[in-house]
Amino acid sequence: GSTVDVDPGVEIDEENAEDDLLGGLQIDSTDDIEVPDRLVDQVIGQDEARDIIIKAAKQRRHVMMIGSPGTGKSMLAKAMSQLLPQEDLQDVLVYHNPDDGNAPKVRTVPAGKGEQIIDAHKEEARKRNQMRSILMWIIIAIVIGYALLAANILLGILAAGIIWLIFRYTSRGTDAMVPNMIVDNGDQRQAPFEDATGAHAGALLGDVRHDPFQSGGMETPSHDRVEPGSIHKSNKGVLFVDEINTLDVRTQQKLMTAIQEGEFSITGQSERSSGAMVQTEPVPCDFVMIAAGNLDAMENMHPALRNRVKGYGYEVYMEDTIEDTPEMRRKYARFVAQEVERDGRLPHFTDDAVEELILEAKRRSGRKNHLTLHFRSLGGLVRVAGDIARAEDREYTTREDVLQAKQRSRSIEQQLADDYIERRKDYELQVTDEAVEGRVNGLAVMGEDSGIMLPVMAEIAPAQGGGQVIATGKLQEMAEESVQNVSAIIKKFSDVDLSEKDIHIQFVQAGQQGVDGDSASITVATAVISALEDIPVDQSVAMTGSLSVRGDVLPVGGVTHKIEAAAKAGCDKVIIPKANEQDVMIEDEYEEMVEIIPCANISEVLDVALMGEPKKDSLVDRLKSITGTALDRQQAV
Ligand code: ADP
Repeated sequence: GSTVDVDPGVEIDEENAEDDLLGGLQIDSTDDIEVPDRLVDQVIGQDEARDIIIKAAKQRRHVMMIGSPGTGKSMLAKAMSQLLPQEDLQDVLVYHNPDDGNAPKVRTVPAGKGEQIIDAHKEEARKRNQMRSILMWIIIAIVIGYALLAANILLGILAAGIIWLIFRYTSRGTDAMVPNMIVDNGDQRQAPFEDATGAHAGALLGDVRHDPFQSGGMETPSHDRVEPGSIHKSNKGVLFVDEINTLDVRTQQKLMTAIQEGEFSITGQSERSSGAMVQTEPVPCDFVMIAAGNLDAMENMHPALRNRVKGYGYEVYMEDTIEDTPEMRRKYARFVAQEVERDGRLPHFTDDAVEELILEAKRRSGRKNHLTLHFRSLGGLVRVAGDIARAEDREYTTREDVLQAKQRSRSIEQQLADDYIERRKDYELQVTDEAVEGRVNGLAVMGEDSGIMLPVMAEIAPAQGGGQVIATGKLQEMAEESVQNVSAIIKKFSDVDLSEKDIHIQFVQAGQQGVDGDSASITVATAVISALEDIPVDQSVAMTGSLSVRGDVLPVGGVTHKIEAAAKAGCDKVIIPKANEQDVMIEDEYEEMVEIIPCANISEVLDVALMGEPKKDSLVDRLKSITGTALDRQQAV
């Protein structure tokens, strides 16, 4: 089945499971949780991918996995190798070919047999060498004896030396007898797993080493220079190739041939090397391929190779998030136990430390009632937190450690964002108590998981010719769009004709990427209206939200990070779209720092953000009567 329960010995409080961050799991620490032996049972979420892996292992089919990094693609590939039968494993030997030194012979034997053969050959070679030595010393003795009789010792020593050299020179011939075992599955307890991600042609397809001494008795026999590729080492097992599109086209073509034939000769990969003259008999490469990548990768993959995998296997998408249920939370607790055991040195996590991690998984999902499935980064957090506890020789990893780990393992973007705030403090770009016309604190997301405050300034000037929207840099387009959206509303309540005005919009300290236009449109609208009507904006307010032409505030992404950024920058209030209310998962420490005000309509936004009573009130009232449902009614008439 798809559910592997945590230790049956662990009690579950079913009644309160729904509200409990651990899904009702009654544990003191992750030490109480039993980790399943098989990798396939350790996989959390990704039910579809897991079912396919199990099916594909039975049928020996290829699989294509598409999805974000760190969601379990290579873990599943490894899990598959544990599911394949181990009885089929083989050793592969390469022999010298006496008829053609450049065409070594290849023999396949059951796993474990290879070593016996090598030992037997070595033994034989040893005996042969011994016989040769004995023969050599007998001849030398005879020659020296003869020389002594002839009273010409010098000539005797010379002759003995020549004989010694001849024997040494020809002894290479006996080494050539010993085959080269290129695939050794003697000690292998499960089907092989080979990760060929980013492999160059030689590592993937096999290679023949260059020999600097190509003649003169010093050369290494060609069969001894043969090296297997991942496709050969994964024979009867799994070949995993992530970022498959990064393989060059010729290599992909050869990979396809290997898949079709189930065997592939090894030859030197670099054309000018002496290895390129050597080509072995075909070497078996009967692997199951798991190709992985993101959607782009699939598009750049050699179409024939893709069709091959598709036609003879499965394609599956990896999920990024999963629904947050008590059962899932219990699995996330088990995830922590898994990572602790895998690492082997980290102290187990206390129950509230696990709770903090599950909270983080919720936050990172960026989606209501979901948990993130980006386990690699979550596992990174587990390790950093565990390391902190370990460095202090503590028995358990605590919630404090997890919080500290989060601080430490901030992404580059987060560090940059914090750095900006620091620097801004220097330039007094920080929040002030003042009210300023045309200036609004917007919020943006940098990278994936960090917010930043980004003030927007609007200035209105008489147009020289037709009215224009002028913004700095690449934000021009989004500024125009925001102004367009707000202009429909402005037309209705203001006497100012926007087409006769130039609207300058400046994003203070933008410059960097990550400013997502949509989520700044209420910011731009507020700044424009403030400038237009000469009503100042409260600088202790920050906001994010998208604006519809009807004046509705529409939901945006990253609200949690944005709120945290506003709090860090020192704002008292932060306006978010009402529709995003459910997505707020800020940390406790920020909750007290900032008041969150959900707004559904631009009139509500202005009510909070603008200052200066009489003028403001009249504006907000006028707006209320023309936006949203009121606007609908007007249009209907
Ligand atoms: P990918 O190949 O998709 O980039 P990996 O399989 O290498 O990701 O995942 C990295 C690590 O993260 C794994 O070794 C495992 O510890 C953890 N992990 C990833 N996905 C899962 C999952 N679905 N369930 C449990 N652990 C996971």
